[in-house]
Amino acid sequence: MASLYIHIPFCESRCAYCAFYSSTYRGNKADYLSALCRELELRRNYLSGAPIRTLYFGGGTPSLLSVEEFSLLMESLRRYYDLSSLEEFTVEVNPDDVTHDFVAGIAALGVNRISMGVQSFHDEDLRLMGRRHSVAQVYSAVEAIRGAGIENVSIDLIYGLPGQTKEAWRENLAKAVALDVQHLSAYSLTYEEGSKLSRLAKRGKVHPVGEEDCADMFALLRAELAQAGFYQYEISNFAKPGMESKHNSSYWDGTPYLGVGASAHSYDGTSRQWNIANTRLYIAKLQQGADDYYEVEQLDLETRYNDFVLTSLRTRKGMDLALLEEGYTRRLYDYCLKNASKYISEGLLIREDGFLRLSESGLFVSDGVMSDLMWVE
Ligand code: SF4
Repeated sequence: MASLYIHIPFCESRCAYCAFYSSTYRGNKADYLSALCRELELRRNYLSGAPIRTLYFGGGTPSLLSVEEFSLLMESLRRYYDLSSLEEFTVEVNPDDVTHDFVAGIAALGVNRISMGVQSFHDEDLRLMGRRHSVAQVYSAVEAIRGAGIENVSIDLIYGLPGQTKEAWRENLAKAVALDVQHLSAYSLTYEEGSKLSRLAKRGKVHPVGEEDCADMFALLRAELAQAGFYQYEISNFAKPGMESKHNSSYWDGTPYLGVGASAHSYDGTSRQWNIANTRLYIAKLQQGADDYYEVEQLDLETRYNDFVLTSLRTRKGMDLALLEEGYTRRLYDYCLKNASKYISEGLLIREDGFLRLSESGLFVSDGVMSDLMWVE
């Protein structure tokens, strides 16, 4: 079983915090879709014919495509890939793109899960973040999605916004819970180099929330969602029972995946591959039949081990120690447990039932713990 990701790099406008690869120029959309179809054909053997279990259209803003454009991509997908075992088909949407016809159209193509960038239930936060939707549009979008028969809805929220109080964050969480969604991803705001917010912060025009307040908001997030019946299955991801994202989980458990489109990444178990992060060049290279639209890195044992540490410790299940020993040698197994021992005695890591995982307090300092377990030459 494998996973397939398709990147749609277009955005109507640029959000103030965004560091993803995306472009506000859409004049080359038709060429881009042809290039995607071509890449889907060229890379049909990348996954060695493994059936696709999860399919994910991310961006950028996939909801800027029309239903006809989705159909075109689906034709290529059906032609070159085995979709007979497809369990989860997610499309990322912006609330203001969602109409009943759009969702009904993509649902008819097999989409059974929607991931929506809500970010906040306060219009002033949305304006500060440069989001183009309003809170009212979130509610109409959810109604349209459910009206079209898609019940599996995930929303993204951001906390630690400049000026955001804990009370305002608590209200956001209460509104998210009241929406009765199945899945929620919440990220603390980061000031990415090159983003508008980072420039504003450097000029003193906005004031980042302090680390302690951010940690309090994270604690609030965990408490409120646990109370509402969500399970935190990864540091930033919460789901109702059985509603974890199968696609994201496949990234964390080392399942091979193919990523198609500008800036998309792929992994086949032994190497990583990433496509050129430039829509214009990506199109040109695919049109010319050039095969240098991506770079490849063969993964040595230590790099694979580091990836394993990073991805497995982010999950609540934690790191499977038997898998560590079998897949990454006794030497790295011993190295990992030696470095973990001080965190185990400090109560930041827990070793239990053959797994090593972050404790409640370890979740707050996860980056430091994980980097100490990683291999350095
Ligand atoms: S919609 Fe998403 S990808 Fe596009 S600018 Fe905003 S955050 Fe970035």
